[in-house]
Amino acid sequence: MSLVKTRVLLKAGLHHFPENAFGSVASLVNPAVSRAQDTLVIACSELGAAPDCISFGNRNRFLVLQHLAASIPSKSECEGDGRHSFRKIEKEFEKHDFRQLIVCGHLSCGVISHWLQPVPAGFVDVGGYRIRFEQGARRIVENNYSPGSAMKRLELMIFEHVLCQIENLLTHPFLSERVRNGATSLHGWVIDADTARVYSYRPTESAYVII
Ligand SMILES: [Zn+2]
Repeated sequence: MSLVKTRVLLKAGLHHFPENAFGSVASLVNPAVSRAQDTLVIACSELGAAPDCISFGNRNRFLVLQHLAASIPSKSECEGDGRHSFRKIEKEFEKHDFRQLIVCGHLSCGVISHWLQPVPAGFVDVGGYRIRFEQGARRIVENNYSPGSAMKRLELMIFEHVLCQIENLLTHPFLSERVRNGATSLHGWVIDADTARVYSYRPTESAYVII
């Protein structure tokens, strides 16, 4: 799937992020202090090492963690039955002083389109990824939008999923603290691999805008 538009407008008021949680593209491109591994990218595992060719900044600024559909468990999920852990992300913050954190989805996400299919017989939701998607982005789209086509529905889910994962991130106190005191800025991205363009979330406009 590829989009020929510069802006994807979402419904306002569906997410409540702390003020100034999101960094500007300018702060990412021209950081006040730039050094190795100042940016953590949580990307869909389907993207492989990508985004490894971000056109700005040198490559060693970025550390990429791969999750299925960039899916991140909330604090309450991690306190549940032990199937979910935030430890991998926390450990990276112990090793690096990340100034920027990018949650990165992509338009051709086969994982999300797979989750939209009926649940196969005998399916076991290892890691609880699917239920997290169903209770997050899927529910938000079903309850708040009237997409005119299956394609538009999938597109909305991909964009909303990134925001749901950022909400989950912010339920973890050490991270919300870093965001509150300005140590880390967040970015929500969706990559269009066909055009190599990036849509970046702008909370003041409830929209993703192409960088
Ligand atoms: Zn994917």
